[in-house]
Amino acid sequence: MAKTSTSQIRGIDDFLRPDHLISDEIRMFCRTLRKFVDNEVLPRAEEIDDYWDWTERKEQTFVHDLWKKLLIDLGLQKSFLPPEFGGSGGGSTVEIAATIQEVARGDYGLASTGFISPWSIAAITIPKPNEVLLKKLAPFLLGDEVFIITSAITEPHAGGSVEDMKLKGAQIRTRARLEGNEWVINGHKLWPSGFREAKWFRVLCSVEGEEFPKNIAQILVPADSPGISTSKPYRKMGASIDTNGDIWFENVRAPKENRAQQDPEDDLKSVLANITIGRLTSAAFPLGIMKRAFEILRDYVDIREIAGKPMKEHGAIAHELGRVAQNIIAAEAFFYFAAARMDRPDAYGFPWEAKSVALASAVQNVVGELGWDTVSRSLELMGSYGYSREGRMEKLLRDLKIGQIVVGGPILRLIEIARYYFGTETI
Ligand SMILES: Cc1cc2nc3c(=O)[nH]c(=O)nc-3n(C[C@H](O)[C@H](O)[C@H](O)COP(=O)(O)OP(=O)(O)OC[C@H]3O[C@@H](n4cnc5c(N)ncnc54)[C@H](O)[C@@H]3O)c2cc1C
Repeated sequence: MAKTSTSQIRGIDDFLRPDHLISDEIRMFCRTLRKFVDNEVLPRAEEIDDYWDWTERKEQTFVHDLWKKLLIDLGLQKSFLPPEFGGSGGGSTVEIAATIQEVARGDYGLASTGFISPWSIAAITIPKPNEVLLKKLAPFLLGDEVFIITSAITEPHAGGSVEDMKLKGAQIRTRARLEGNEWVINGHKLWPSGFREAKWFRVLCSVEGEEFPKNIAQILVPADSPGISTSKPYRKMGASIDTNGDIWFENVRAPKENRAQQDPEDDLKSVLANITIGRLTSAAFPLGIMKRAFEILRDYVDIREIAGKPMKEHGAIAHELGRVAQNIIAAEAFFYFAAARMDRPDAYGFPWEAKSVALASAVQNVVGELGWDTVSRSLELMGSYGYSREGRMEKLLRDLKIGQIVVGGPILRLIEIARYYFGTETI
């Protein structure tokens, strides 16, 4: 069908990304990522959706090439390390979010594993840098091979409760004990993003014989350590190339210095900061998905006709289109406003503070809800093209739901907001 309209059409850059807070260099990097997504990711979106078991296949798949291009050839992996350790990183939360958004526009799963390592780097950098560990990891992160550090937090009996520090680590069943200069870890974790191709794991443990907060420990271990075994990846509703599954730890040993924070009391701050960072940056993924939904819908309503007129020229439809654009404006505004505050801890507080956890929780929830509304409305507007794969919208809805749940789930996040604003104490 030919395009029927000549009116001006807006693009995904016409919303509220705060370009004044993003350096020229990062804006250029975002353009490079956009080109990579347009040329190499979006044309294969359906195939990517089918490759949930790519780590189990014997042959070298195009998915391996995608990781290599994104993380090594385009230099994303190097950007995870701060310059003092040889990396090209050091970008602000706003800048990192802008890059996540670009990749998530292409594929949620690609972005989910692609940006999992910096979550662990943050844990060994905030509140204090663990220089020994950073120096140990630097050659791998700066090398020519894909090097993923995954975060093993969720456990079979619970996810939200394991990361809920109000429970003082009582729900963390993965145990660590110190024997001389070595940690010995036993436990079972589920779901770490990119677990099949990860080279190291960051494991949230409870230290035997220690009281809260010293019992909270994040210990980094190479994935090929004796005593570690993994399952096959799960088949999920979306985010298929982000592999998730079981990891078992049986008397796994790691040197003492592999604890993320050397001062035991700092590990709690690190975990809380990590939750704030995780929840806030997790909202950049739905934002990327919303931008993709906008592009697909914009082109569709321009061409598709109802009663001989382009869809977008019908009053009821224009009302819905206004809602879609309004959602994206609101989500992007709230998200970047919060990210910019996070970049000024001197003025607004540190990421381990309860108010930061509450803000990040609200951002992930609200952006997720606006994202769900946006994609769901877009899908409905596309009729049968909306629910069929060829329309390219239904994948976005499946991925978006995952983005709403990760890092604790929406209900726990609401409880944490209530704890901060209403003083809720008993739950
Ligand atoms: C693509 C993907 C990537 C992931 N990546 C990782 C990863 O890198 N590392 C990792 O460890 N995990 C990861 N996960 C797991 C994910 O973080 C968990 O699924 C999520 O945290 C929820 O935990 P759960 O599934 O155990 O649900 P539960 O904790 O059982 O939660 C179920 C529901 O109960 C709510 N809830 C939880 N606690 C409370 C409470 N105290 N009061 C009231 N309601 C509560 C939750 O909000 C949720 O709505 C990933 C999952 C996916 C799908």
